[in-house]
Amino acid sequence: NGSYDLSFKITLVGAPGVGKSSLLASFISNSVDVLPPTIGVDFKIKLLTVGGKRLKLTIWDTAGQEKLRTLTPSYYRGAHGIILVYDVTCRETFTNLADIWAKEVELYSTNQDCVKMLVGNKVDKESERLVSREEGIALAKELGYLFLECSAKTRENVEQCFEELALKIMTVPSLL
Ligand code: GDP
Ligand code: MG
Repeated sequence: NGSYDLSFKITLVGAPGVGKSSLLASFISNSVDVLPPTIGVDFKIKLLTVGGKRLKLTIWDTAGQEKLRTLTPSYYRGAHGIILVYDVTCRETFTNLADIWAKEVELYSTNQDCVKMLVGNKVDKESERLVSREEGIALAKELGYLFLECSAKTRENVEQCFEELALKIMTVPSLL
């Protein structure tokens, strides 16, 4: 009925083509609890229950603006969680993560304790993989991010990305 206990803003970032929009579409697709966004077309809203709480997730996609290399501060402002996505079959999307995207996240996220997650997408293309799972784990550890690999195409681990992020956000008192 549209009611919820907690409302979180989640922002998807990462290089063009890594699958951010696909990840969001994949997450939203098997659900009846999707509300139409009230303003603009840059985010989607999904209701789900995690850890016994009814959550309203407002998930911001970048609508192609990442091609300008940097997003406007409004994408980050007030975010409870940030998902930094790369493509496991494209090394370039991984190598510039720490220098470009993680720096931008630090610069613009207004919530000090905002939860961040590194996500390696397109694991269905295993034969084309160029970034190992171990490298992903190591970078996430270095950055202090959560880590998961997923496939927006097969939906492998897609729900887990959002659920693990939400669960972690719920453990941070300053974000509730
Ligand atoms: P964005 O620019 O980060 O939003 O990336 P898109 O969601 O537009 O995806 C870029 C391209 O990668 C599209 O052709 C998608 O179909 C493809 N893609 C996205 N996710 C996956 C995935 O998990 N597996 C495969 N095989 N292709 C994907
Ligand atoms: Mg996109």
